[in-house]
Amino acid sequence: MTDVDLRTSILRHLTYSLGSDADHATQHDWRIALSLAVRDRLIENWHAASRATRAVGAKRVYYLSMEFLIGRLLEDAIVNLRLEDEAQQALTGLGLDPVAVIQDEPDAALGNGGLGRLAACFMESLSTLGVPAFGYGIRYEHGLFRQSFEEGRQIETAEDWLTQYHAWEFERRDVRFKMCFGGEVVEEGGKPVWHGQEAVMAQAYDTPVIGWRGRWANTLRLWSAQPLHGFDLDRFNRGEYAAAAEPEALARTISRVLYPDDTTEQGKELRLKQEYFFTAASLRDILRRFEAEGGALTDLPKRAAIQLNDTHPAIAGPELVRLLHDEREMPLDQAIATARGCLSYTNHTLMPEALERWSEDLMTSLLPRHMQLIERIDAAHAAEQPSRSVSLTGDGEVRMGELAFVMAHKVNGVSALHTDLMKKTVFAELHRLHPDRIVNETNGVTPRRWLLSANPRLSGLITRTIGEGWVDDLEQLERLEPSLTDPAFLDAYAAAKRANKADLADWLAAEHGVQVDPDAMFDVQIKRIHEYKRQHLNILEAIALWRDIKANPQGNWVPRVKIFAGKAAPGYFFAKEIIRLINDVAAVINSDPETNRYLKVIFLPNYNVSLAERLIPASDLSEQISTAGKEASGTGNMKFALNGAPTIGTLDGANVEIRDRVGARNFFLFGMTADEVEARRAVPEHAAQAIAADPRLSGALMEISRGTFSRRDRHRYRGVVANLSGADYFLVCSDFTAYWDAQRRADAAFADADAWRRMAACNTARSGWFSSDRTIRGYMADIWDVVAVRSGLDEAMQPPGSSLG
Ligand SMILES: *Cc1c(COP(=O)(O)O)cnc(C)c1O
Repeated sequence: MTDVDLRTSILRHLTYSLGSDADHATQHDWRIALSLAVRDRLIENWHAASRATRAVGAKRVYYLSMEFLIGRLLEDAIVNLRLEDEAQQALTGLGLDPVAVIQDEPDAALGNGGLGRLAACFMESLSTLGVPAFGYGIRYEHGLFRQSFEEGRQIETAEDWLTQYHAWEFERRDVRFKMCFGGEVVEEGGKPVWHGQEAVMAQAYDTPVIGWRGRWANTLRLWSAQPLHGFDLDRFNRGEYAAAAEPEALARTISRVLYPDDTTEQGKELRLKQEYFFTAASLRDILRRFEAEGGALTDLPKRAAIQLNDTHPAIAGPELVRLLHDEREMPLDQAIATARGCLSYTNHTLMPEALERWSEDLMTSLLPRHMQLIERIDAAHAAEQPSRSVSLTGDGEVRMGELAFVMAHKVNGVSALHTDLMKKTVFAELHRLHPDRIVNETNGVTPRRWLLSANPRLSGLITRTIGEGWVDDLEQLERLEPSLTDPAFLDAYAAAKRANKADLADWLAAEHGVQVDPDAMFDVQIKRIHEYKRQHLNILEAIALWRDIKANPQGNWVPRVKIFAGKAAPGYFFAKEIIRLINDVAAVINSDPETNRYLKVIFLPNYNVSLAERLIPASDLSEQISTAGKEASGTGNMKFALNGAPTIGTLDGANVEIRDRVGARNFFLFGMTADEVEARRAVPEHAAQAIAADPRLSGALMEISRGTFSRRDRHRYRGVVANLSGADYFLVCSDFTAYWDAQRRADAAFADADAWRRMAACNTARSGWFSSDRTIRGYMADIWDVVAVRSGLDEAMQPPGSSLG
């Protein structure tokens, strides 16, 4: 299939795979035909990668994650296979608009935010590095909901990415496992045997994940829940049509939706079922592969590194013990040790309310054998420890964080600060018992998607300046350092940013009907809406700025466009209030003729990976303003820095490491540190004090209270104002004045265009460390003990496109 040029291949697929023809083909048909033509170019290397892995008996990485926020796949494949020019020519030759064809693809939004996007970046880096790996997750029929606004309020509708033909996946009819729930444990021949009551089939769907230059491809294997038995013909023949379809509908429920919340536990039986379903199917698959390749079971840790992305797959501990001990007769202690040798756990949050806990009753009714094994694991762990101070259960609940910790040989945090706080807070006692277990692996992002592909103007300039090596060795961006004083380079750098901003301005006008000045500062906060991320701090500053401009319209104001995007969990009332407030404020400010030359506020609906790719290259200022100690790492912050948007931010998560690298002069720091946050909370009336001390803050709050932004419903934001001036747990008020001052420093810096572009370019040149390739190398060395397999095999494998000559 690789012996023809891309244009011929597209036409062949259009005709023979889609049964369409060029005269009648829709954009969708062309996109699928192109996807299949591109897919043909990677299949052979995908197979070669698994052959090479088997040939050397290599250890594999298994990345278990409830979420993979992969976004669009076609463009990623084109870029990684280096087919940009060929695809461009083929499409224009066929009379098509390449951008429109590529943007026809719906985002695969199988994740909520940072955690899921991290998993997607990791998969790409694993393939780029040539590390044998599988990603395991759930093939949600409906990914994260689609967001729109009605009178400023968030409206959620189902996302139906799978209603379109999905060109990237392969259904593996031969890879399916029966998964059980409920039932009871009985003694049979002196052994406990679990008889499940309910069963569904886990059906595998594989998507190839191609690395840079197409040299290696791994598999993302997603499980779909299907009924055990087909359709009930008897009932159907009796006329019971709905009842005949019932088992199917019930089974499918498990992979129907992604829970739209990644920070608070959903006390839902279905959620626990989902977790067990995909974790247990993945372990079944891992053991099947291991056993097919041969070897003593105690050697499993030499062949399988199983990473748990957060606690969602933490049931892997007891399940693997069950598979080894109950089903394969390994002694319990050995089974626990073997499981622990394979498993490692990534913690993503320190917020106690976000650490998963399941009631023992639910666990017992859904997974009775696992509940017993959790107690055995707990007892074994307690027996090792003289103080017996940590327990996996308590208050009638199973603590999944503790369970994951105890069953893992390594536990990692996702930024230096987060790892440090983990040792001091949530896992303080466990850390004392196991001082070598916690390690840090600061997050990263893939430079292929987030710089090379998303920002062709800047990546072209970088390649012209330092060559192409940076794409798989991002720290080579340091070689831009000498150019940071070269006016010609800085001109070109600024021109790339200006052109990206002009594109965004055109798009905002065309798609959203808002006019913005591309020379204004594009100040961008895009991420999930959450109180700890403090979008309300940002909008308060906008209100205060608006008031200042109104009071002095002749002043020397630096024009700003504040752009927000992000979804709120449907059940998170306060976050939805923040969205509505921002939209209400935007409506008033944008239509104020006195100020709208200087200030615009825009909330873009339906934030997703594609929107991030559009906004980040066109951003001037990156808002990373969480309450210190609350953001585990952040990865959005890294994407912005890489694309030359300096950060205004707190000392939180990876902001700390970004600032260390880009330099304090190129980062607008403000606000309390994590330690100061704790101390401040103890001050009685801290919010009232802060409000009394800052007339801008009290003015902004007064404006909200008196209904300036909700004229027909003056009390709409009474709750928001009461929260901010009362408990203000996230210390919006206490950080307001420092934030305002930092924003004015940013204004002054932006007004000096030469200084600003140097600052922006510094951010690009010094952010190379934030590549997910670096993060993956860290996991390989510190946690997984795996090596890349690619070396030596490149020759044997088809370089993509080589067939063209
Ligand atoms: C990178 C990314 C995130 C994570 O952003 P943070 O600012 O780190 O919270 C969330 N959603 C999408 C679509 C992303 O691309």
